[in-house]
Amino acid sequence: MNYVVIGGDAAGMSAAMEIYRHDSEAHIITLEKGFHYSYGQCGLPYVLDGRIENAEDVVHKTAAQFKDKYGIDTREGHCVTAVHPKEKTVSGFDVQTKETFEIAYDRLIIATGASPKKVLKDEAYNLDGIYFFKTIPQTKQLQQAINDAEVVTIIGGGYIALELAETLTMAGKKVRMLIRSQQVVSFLESDFAEMIHEELRQKGVDVLFNEQLVSYDGNDHVSSVTTTTATYDTDIVIEAVGVKPSTDFVKDSGIHMLKNGAIVVDSHMETNIPSIYAAGDCATHYHIIKGQNTYLPLGTTANKQGRIAGLNMASIPEQFKGIVGSAILKCFDLEIGTTGLIEKELKDLNIPYEVVTFETGNHAGYYPNVEKLHLKMYWHKDDQQLLGLRVIGKKGVDKRIDVFATALYHASTLRQLIDLDLSYAPPFNSVWDPIQQLAKRQF
Ligand SMILES: Cc1cc2nc3c(=O)[nH]c(=O)nc-3n(C[C@H](O)[C@H](O)[C@H](O)COP(=O)(O)OP(=O)(O)OC[C@H]3O[C@@H](n4cnc5c(N)ncnc54)[C@H](O)[C@@H]3O)c2cc1C
Repeated sequence: MNYVVIGGDAAGMSAAMEIYRHDSEAHIITLEKGFHYSYGQCGLPYVLDGRIENAEDVVHKTAAQFKDKYGIDTREGHCVTAVHPKEKTVSGFDVQTKETFEIAYDRLIIATGASPKKVLKDEAYNLDGIYFFKTIPQTKQLQQAINDAEVVTIIGGGYIALELAETLTMAGKKVRMLIRSQQVVSFLESDFAEMIHEELRQKGVDVLFNEQLVSYDGNDHVSSVTTTTATYDTDIVIEAVGVKPSTDFVKDSGIHMLKNGAIVVDSHMETNIPSIYAAGDCATHYHIIKGQNTYLPLGTTANKQGRIAGLNMASIPEQFKGIVGSAILKCFDLEIGTTGLIEKELKDLNIPYEVVTFETGNHAGYYPNVEKLHLKMYWHKDDQQLLGLRVIGKKGVDKRIDVFATALYHASTLRQLIDLDLSYAPPFNSVWDPIQQLAKRQF
């Protein structure tokens, strides 16, 4: 059987490895337009302040390793420009030689990820000194650029923008964030977002809101950024305003997509065209609580969806059950975790809910160095089924978010949360974990 994988990172190579494991007759070709396979983009911000020494350290396996160890025909610099479902082929070109190719498949997976969105029209980016942040080459370019830069302006306030604000400040740069809305990260309620704003200010980041980008100005190199509010001098700019699925090349193929370009997949990760699968940042993500397809591009989901796609492609029927919307990030000394729905989503979906905001310690109060944990929990008004949790603090956010995510995944109620047998010792916890304390207070 001929398997073709488009995209050589998280989703694509997870699929390729499952096919390799489960079909001993498989002939697997992977087509990657770049020159890196299977790497952790999530680690790249930490290259900028030297916490991770080299950008290449985030590579999990190289194309040569996949080839030598697993016999996967990994091709680099191979950009796919079209999928032809009738002929069961994909076509494209070699980015170095410009030679074209056409390759036949029996089963195909599209795992092309997502690309940074641009705020302005293409011609606004003709100046040097404007960067996007996603790949290893982009990280290396930015590393070079910050050597000579004093002031860095970040456009955007999402989690990547926050990670960049931290690492560039740690690298000794003067960082300004220009944010279009009134708060950072859209998955937080405003009172919780305000805690991040305070942390940014305390660490010296100039964070400005209601800043609608108008233009980048300068001669050959950007020297200022103009918004609807003011003009700001800068040495370089990084635009980090979110991503869009990299699926333009399939728009004439008949494959169904959401409005934003995410390829619609079923629970087997198959598209509306049999034998064509999709996974990761280029595909839809079924949300268990919402009961609908959403778009929430994250590495953890890309790996899981890639695995499920690969199994199904190798004729092992497995289903992707969906996500509950869990994410965690670090911004200087703060840890921020979220799972489930936020208030705005609950209102939009007309789900009747109760909400409580609560502050407690991350571990037993009598044990040294206790840190505050701020929690906001939602549950269904009628049956008390859990709906969402936000947690912010300096320590112990991950434990609470992941326990709650597990409970959400299994559609637990407040009472079931109280009954959970969670680990306890004073350096880690109180006898009642913070999420159980919060649940217990409702009875
Ligand atoms: C700075 C940063 C930090 C992040 N931090 C986190 C985190 O902490 N936690 C988390 O869960 N997620 C994080 N993410 C998101 C995570 O990296 C992505 O969700 C994940 O990489 C998606 O995997 P993917 O395989 O779907 O897509 P990608 O990793 O984007 O891979 C797609 C591949 O397809 C290739 N490709 C695209 N088009 C074509 C084409 N036409 N022909 C051939 N090849 C093509 C691309 O070159 C790319 O290599 C972060 C992302 C970034 C950029």
